Amino acid sequence: MLVGVPREIKNNEFRVGLTPAAVREYVARGHEVLVETGAGLGIDADDAAYVAAGANIASSAAEVFSRAGMIVKVKEPQPSEWTQFRPGQILFTYLHLAPDPAQARGLMESGVTAVAYETVTDAHGGLPLLAPMSEVAGRLSIQAAATALQKPNGGRGILLGGVPGVAPAKVVVIGGGVVGMHAARMAAGLGAEVTVLDRSVPRLRELDELFAGRVRTRYSTIDALESEVLAADAVIGAVLIPGAAAPKLVSRAMLGKMKRGAVMVDVAIDQGGCFETSHATTHADPTYVVDGVIHYCVANMPGAVALTSSHALNHATLPFGLALAGEGLAALARDPHLRNGLNVHRGRITHRAVAEALGESF
Ligand code: NAD
Repeated sequence: MLVGVPREIKNNEFRVGLTPAAVREYVARGHEVLVETGAGLGIDADDAAYVAAGANIASSAAEVFSRAGMIVKVKEPQPSEWTQFRPGQILFTYLHLAPDPAQARGLMESGVTAVAYETVTDAHGGLPLLAPMSEVAGRLSIQAAATALQKPNGGRGILLGGVPGVAPAKVVVIGGGVVGMHAARMAAGLGAEVTVLDRSVPRLRELDELFAGRVRTRYSTIDALESEVLAADAVIGAVLIPGAAAPKLVSRAMLGKMKRGAVMVDVAIDQGGCFETSHATTHADPTYVVDGVIHYCVANMPGAVALTSSHALNHATLPFGLALAGEGLAALARDPHLRNGLNVHRGRITHRAVAEALGESF
């Protein structure tokens, strides 16, 4: 199979569909890989690194799109890319089609077979191609909180870990899934006093075992949530109810009773956010203040650490990508988890939830 890797063109996107190490895996299995010139510059991989890994370099995106049997990307295709797909070509990338009918129509009209990272499943009911980005966002959320807590940035001026003789900051993580666990790990590692709230008792048990007393766990009632949030220096919003908008767990009324200069990082902002006062921000202007409380609500946090994110994403996508390149559509027939990733085929939406969200027939 000829596998194509165009340069990402979405605003402020520095990740790349295949790293040089991943290219080497494809080439070792007899595939040809065509990378658009400059595609890896955002992760410190120049054309020479791709050539050393066995790729050929294309001088334009048009060359990649016209020659490749399969395109591997990171972000959803942009309008100028929809028109370059052709019937039978395979697209493997994040799509997030449900709230994006224009893109859905563009892909359906192109005839491309589109497999979306975000709906590929695993044997435990998880989403293995979303998990690495949750790991990144969880860890990054603590770096964002630590920065915002500094006085010149409007924060309370408290060091997460304190120093000998001075108490550390209180970090409260709402939702102890992938994001929450990685946030808790980073905060505890820096010496903060960490509490994780979740609605799942089995999950709280796992976290209790994992952190062996270093992190407190609390069942997430309104009462527990309110007392923890009001005492917090930093609150990390990391809840997810699959397929639904995030519940608004911190109200505007609660905000008024929080510490001035406290920080709230709403990682769940890509599902609408779990604080009443959240609205999406960008890396260019990540924070704003409501009632003296700093809000950080960047919807694509992993993009800020493109190098780490690209490698983590490639490790998760590699086995699925190799299966698609090696077997073509037969890989979808053989692997039900990869098949769950199929969103568009022969001009139709082929994923039930996505079709329902778009009002398309299934
Ligand atoms: P996850 O499913 O692993 O974890 C979610 C957790 O929330 C679960 O443990 C669940 O029991 C818990 N939960 C649900 N309702 C709750 C409640 N009322 N109170 C307390 N806990 C509750 O999900 P995840 O992978 O950790 O993702 C969390 C959120 O972060 C998602 O919305 C995801 O899309 C988002 N995310 C955002 C970015 C970004 O860049 N902003 C990046 C990655 C992930």
